[in-house]
Amino acid sequence: MRGRSRLFYPFASRQKRLRALLETRHFPFLLLSNPLNLFYLTGFRGSAGVAIFTLDEARLWVDPRYTAQAQEEAHGVDVVEEKGGLLQAAAKWLKVRKAGRVGYEDGHLTCAAFQALAARLPAQTKLVPAGGMVEELRYVKDREEIETMREAGLLTAEVFEEVRDRVRPGVREADLAAEIEFRLRRKGAEGAAFETIVASGPRSVLPHARASGKLLRKGELVIFDLGAILRGYVADMTRTLYLGRPDRRVRSLVAAVLGAQERARETLRPGVRAGKVDQVARKALARRGLARYFTHSAGHGLGLEIHERPRLGKGGTERLEEGCVVTVEPGIYMEGLGGIRIEDTVLVGHAEAEILTPAPKDGWAI
Ligand code: ZN
Ligand code: ZN
Repeated sequence: MRGRSRLFYPFASRQKRLRALLETRHFPFLLLSNPLNLFYLTGFRGSAGVAIFTLDEARLWVDPRYTAQAQEEAHGVDVVEEKGGLLQAAAKWLKVRKAGRVGYEDGHLTCAAFQALAARLPAQTKLVPAGGMVEELRYVKDREEIETMREAGLLTAEVFEEVRDRVRPGVREADLAAEIEFRLRRKGAEGAAFETIVASGPRSVLPHARASGKLLRKGELVIFDLGAILRGYVADMTRTLYLGRPDRRVRSLVAAVLGAQERARETLRPGVRAGKVDQVARKALARRGLARYFTHSAGHGLGLEIHERPRLGKGGTERLEEGCVVTVEPGIYMEGLGGIRIEDTVLVGHAEAEILTPAPKDGWAI
């Protein structure tokens, strides 16, 4: 069973960009197995599939579970149903084409799959690691992706504002996390992009604490880290609340983190090295003697995955480009006091960056 569907923007443009890369890097064949990359290039959202792109052909092998779905969703590829192994079918096709150099996703294909594939190919066919070619394309988001990520960010911010009203002493962390995830879905998200973090009091010093059965108490800091996944794209946002009237020390620490986040966000511009953003956040905290409490990197790229390139960490050399979407999330974690982190998902623009998770950061004390 097979059939080629029509080729719609944005898939036409993504496939065109991929083929330009294939040409400059001398890959007449590229074998793809990462489902996220198949989704990016074709729109097919199944969890398994193998595709081969050449300069003028593209073919997607799926098992019978996904035939109908692939025929409906996948653009610009010949969909082929395969009841045996997908890689075996791809190998057979490469053999018929007398393929020479075949690129593969060395960051994704397992050793076992690679060996099974290699064993079925004739000696003239060479499997060559192609790195993350599709990930390179995903580095800069196109119009469709930006639209979707804007929506995912807004939805995340709205849910936080709704749930914020329920944050008070005596409430369980896990109940707030469940409330957040329920509301994300009800607003149209596919779910939470990652396990929602609600960490209060002493637990807030763990940057990746899970929501637990602990009850919130007056005088505690509470970190909320949440994000929607919408049509495959994720958002990531953190806010910190204080339960009660904060004293001067807490107020000044929150102001320091907020200041560091703003300084870091202001550095987001095309051409800036990813490491620079981290450096700026770290310097802002260092001026207040807080640098040693900032124990992780300042942010990360995101899109189809919650962590993508670039990594906004110390020494990061990748250059930001217009259309990169990254988080900016400085935080400080002090034993005895708790943690404070403020994170936004931000789009790098031509002139200035746009916050995609526009929930208020002031009025953090309740
Ligand atoms: Zn986060
Ligand atoms: Zn993050």
